[in-house]
Amino acid sequence: MSTVLVVEDDAALRGALRASLRARHLQVLEAGTGEEALQVAAREHPDLVLLDLGLPGIDGMDVLRTLRESGETPVVVLTVRDTQVEKVMALDAGATDYITKPFNTEELLARIRATLRSREARPPEAHVLRFEELEIDLERRRVLSEGHPVRLTPMELALLELFVNSKGRLLTHEYLRARLRAPGDDRQVSLRVHVRHLRQKLGDASAYPRLIGTEPGLGYRWLLEDGVPTGA
Ligand code: CA
Repeated sequence: MSTVLVVEDDAALRGALRASLRARHLQVLEAGTGEEALQVAAREHPDLVLLDLGLPGIDGMDVLRTLRESGETPVVVLTVRDTQVEKVMALDAGATDYITKPFNTEELLARIRATLRSREARPPEAHVLRFEELEIDLERRRVLSEGHPVRLTPMELALLELFVNSKGRLLTHEYLRARLRAPGDDRQVSLRVHVRHLRQKLGDASAYPRLIGTEPGLGYRWLLEDGVPTGA
């Protein structure tokens, strides 16, 4: 059973979150302040931290940074609507994902499940992943769509690799650019162009993408469920 630490100073909201999570068979720990959150996290090693950024005392962003420095525990942050800057800061500080208040409980639970799933290590032999009609062999650098080879540039392949390994996590523009930039090369990576080409080649260029979702002003997210390893 996975354990979620809920950090929220609003006791009513905390209680509602506790009830929703317990109903999904998750174990719940609670903290009402940042200080308490850090103590409980250090003592109990939760599988995931759900962190409200607006806290009295130690600020939520500082709690996030401290958690990041001390371990790999995924942190999903709760932010208030229209604080784009805060979201970007939180993601760049290592938040795994964010949820905007007021949130839809089903969406929150889905994000939590996705984050918990992404912690489960992929078996080492499974280097071929299948996402519906796509077959991706990262080791052999081969991508098939409905059985037909898709020719990708090294940049597009690198981008695809980041996406499929992120398992639904939002990847910020900043993160992707930093990962795609060659060492010593200060040129700005034209992310938008590479994403557009990758979408076109994978047949995901419609107005309603199925593979790569855009979060305006923030980044991109791989939309499909975990790839099914074929174990080839
Ligand atoms: Ca709050």
